[in-house]
Amino acid sequence: MRPLIATVDLAALRHNYSLARQCAPGRKAFAVVKADAYGHGARQVVAALADVADGFAVCSLEEAAEIRAVNEQARMLLLEGCFEAAEYEAAAELRLDVAVQGSANAEQLLAASLPRPLNVWMKLDSGMHRLGFTAEAVRDWYPRLREAPQVAELNLMSHFACADERGHPLNELQLEQFCALCELEFDHRSMANSAAVLTLAAAHMDWLRPGIILYGATPFAELSAEALGLKPVMTLTAGLIAIRDVPAGESVGYGAGWVAQRPSRIGTVSCGYADGYPRTAPSGTSVVIRGQRVPLAGRVSMDMLAVDLTDLPDAQLGDAVELWGAQMPIDELAQACGTIGYELLTKVTRRVPRRYI
Ligand SMILES: *Cc1c(COP(=O)(O)O)cnc(C)c1O
Repeated sequence: MRPLIATVDLAALRHNYSLARQCAPGRKAFAVVKADAYGHGARQVVAALADVADGFAVCSLEEAAEIRAVNEQARMLLLEGCFEAAEYEAAAELRLDVAVQGSANAEQLLAASLPRPLNVWMKLDSGMHRLGFTAEAVRDWYPRLREAPQVAELNLMSHFACADERGHPLNELQLEQFCALCELEFDHRSMANSAAVLTLAAAHMDWLRPGIILYGATPFAELSAEALGLKPVMTLTAGLIAIRDVPAGESVGYGAGWVAQRPSRIGTVSCGYADGYPRTAPSGTSVVIRGQRVPLAGRVSMDMLAVDLTDLPDAQLGDAVELWGAQMPIDELAQACGTIGYELLTKVTRRVPRRYI
């Protein structure tokens, strides 16, 4: 078997969920498991959190249905709402909470005949300008939705644009927008993503919505997951499948862009961009072999990448190579590639087997 595996540490996941809850005692939390639980496997993540999580949040009906098939009980919130009228009926059958993100959504909901009423989360556009009602529209729609037979709980939610930047002025403005609507008697309110769970206590409200921190990555550019007390959940491990000596002056890999400055020992690793390792990772980016960091040498190819083993003479064929995990934080790799841990995690492809511990 090709030596490449994503090991998912479910104890670390549970640790991270309880850390999120500890930030906001007495509040509830939807564990955000959209995008196949940020690439970790939604079914397994839901099973591992089922006895502790108050609920789960997903993007679409399809994601919700996959989870409902293995968990009959859990409260589940559709974050992006329904995309067509018929989906409200399906959402009611699946016993989902739905976000209603604008007037068109609300009209469709009120036109639906549902087997049971839905818990509705009116989404306020408090400043991100992506989804949601204006504050004025929330006020207009509130009485209609309150009276509607399709609506069970009527709740309010919103989403931060800059919660990952502490002290960003938009955070306060969004919070003010939200709080101005709290005189309406919503059953529950929810505003906090991971970054706000950690640093914006005023946004905790009734329900938290932590995503990335559950998986042990940081939402902040300047605060590491480790400093936050998070444990990495996924370890991506490949193997050293070839080793060769390359004389000074010879190049390695596509484009011949990396040239040996000294007689070098080059290792070939069984992971490439078709597995989800970013092609944008520059030469010099670290992987870990035998507890020691070694640098990437040359371009990442589809199925493989090369590393410079010259300073790790002990390295042997068959050695494990940690591409990210406890020894090589995913956030460090993401930063080197100009992206965020979220993107790397969600882009681990189907051909990488997941193993759960
Ligand atoms: C994805 C998402 C979250 C979780 O965000 P994190 O930054 O991963 O914590 C919360 N709320 C909404 C509406 C989302 O779309």
